[in-house]
Amino acid sequence: MIGALLRRIFGSGGSGDGEPGDRSGLYFYVKCRACNEVIRVRINRHNDLSPIEDGDGFHVRKSIVGRNCFRRIEAEMTFDKGYRQVGAELVGATIATREEWDSWEASHPVPAPGNPA
Ligand SMILES: [Zn+2]
Repeated sequence: MIGALLRRIFGSGGSGDGEPGDRSGLYFYVKCRACNEVIRVRINRHNDLSPIEDGDGFHVRKSIVGRNCFRRIEAEMTFDKGYRQVGAELVGATIATREEWDSWEASHPVPAPGNPA
């Protein structure tokens, strides 16, 4: 835990699609087939990823429920050794982009409790 904390404190910059200060997070975006909500999904690269048995890289399974409807989305994502997303199997959703998520969030603002803008 201390190591992770130090990495969080000192780990500025970096690569990938993460958030500033969130070095262990990997993000991807899915669009619900039922209601078109775009959902951001966070994966902890240290805890959530499993090595692929017959290759280099990692995969993760996630069950995702958005806030717009209660339909469950099943995702199986594949990443290469550099934690770049290389594959996506989605049930109930399609893959989306950061830009789609940004625009969905912009048109569906949610007040963040305890964190006023
Ligand atoms: Zn939905």
